[in-house]
Amino acid sequence: MRKHETFKRSHSPKSALIIYAHQSPSSFNAAARDVAVQELKLQGYEVVVSDLYAMNFKANATWDDIIGDLKNSELFQYGEETMHAWMEGRLSKDIVAEQHKVKEAELIIFQFPLYWFSVPAIMKGWIDRVLSQGFAFTLEKMYDNGIFKDKKAMLSFTTGATQTMFQPDGINGDINVTLWPLQNGILHFCGFQVLAPQIFWGPAHCPPTARAAMLEGWRARLKRLLAEKPLTFAPCELFDLSFEGGFLLRPEVKEEQATQPHGVTTGHHLGKPLPPDNQTRARTTEEEDPGCTK
Ligand SMILES: Cc1cc2nc3c(=O)[nH]c(=O)nc-3n(C[C@H](O)[C@H](O)[C@H](O)COP(=O)(O)OP(=O)(O)OC[C@H]3O[C@@H](n4cnc5c(N)ncnc54)[C@H](O)[C@@H]3O)c2cc1C
Repeated sequence: MRKHETFKRSHSPKSALIIYAHQSPSSFNAAARDVAVQELKLQGYEVVVSDLYAMNFKANATWDDIIGDLKNSELFQYGEETMHAWMEGRLSKDIVAEQHKVKEAELIIFQFPLYWFSVPAIMKGWIDRVLSQGFAFTLEKMYDNGIFKDKKAMLSFTTGATQTMFQPDGINGDINVTLWPLQNGILHFCGFQVLAPQIFWGPAHCPPTARAAMLEGWRARLKRLLAEKPLTFAPCELFDLSFEGGFLLRPEVKEEQATQPHGVTTGHHLGKPLPPDNQTRARTTEEEDPGCTK
């Protein structure tokens, strides 16, 4: 697949964006990306791929991202400067182009190999630079009140580790904890409805038949992806959203939660056992919901 490859269907208003970060076109990540492109196209989606390495996407957040004079050249504050630049149409062309793709998409898939329990640096750079203040969040519009609350987003990634290594009793610890900063701190923070992650466990250490089965599983999931319930996060209404109140869970909510066997979410655990699979599986309708919805 070539960089910036775009598949258009003029009769379809549905659009999906795949943010893809792998250096090799013959990688397993490339295969997972291709399955998503094919399957979403079959469903009538216009699919846009941002192939970050092929684009040589700039990963570092610097003053070069702002066109024209800085507001404060004595003390450079990237967040402040990019917020003003966004309001005044002075962000660099590559950021504006990605922001346009985000705006158009109703579904965004981040496809990447897990690097250091996180996304590769080039993808982190995309997040730092594209999801700028004003465009992707404000202090009033965050989490379930977030700017992208009508869009869905998900992580699709490969690991070097096996699944057992990322169990709560495995050497790497609970994958739900690993995923919390990415899924809550980035995707949910910007308002996205976060679909359960697609995790391809250790494809490099599997026989070819197992790898083929993983890709077929992904294809089957994609067929009903948009109908999936998103993951559960704590809604803003549970918190006192003021500096005086410290943005803390409201006392009556804490009281209510005291009798629950599990914490509210992976992050809001309140010193209790984590709600099982909170960052890897959407709750079924039968499961008890501790006052949390997306
Ligand atoms: C800097 C760095 C940090 C890392 N940190 C972590 C970490 O924190 N945790 C962790 O678990 N891992 C980590 N890793 C490992 C990394 O996540 C894995 O190497 C990566 O996820 C493997 O995916 P891949 O696409 O590169 O696999 P590849 O090596 O590209 O593919 C695996 C196999 O699939 C085959 N394949 C390709 N296409 C197909 C197809 N269509 N059908 C069937 N087979 C196919 C390939 O030929 C290959 O044999 C790290 C690696 C690096 C470099």
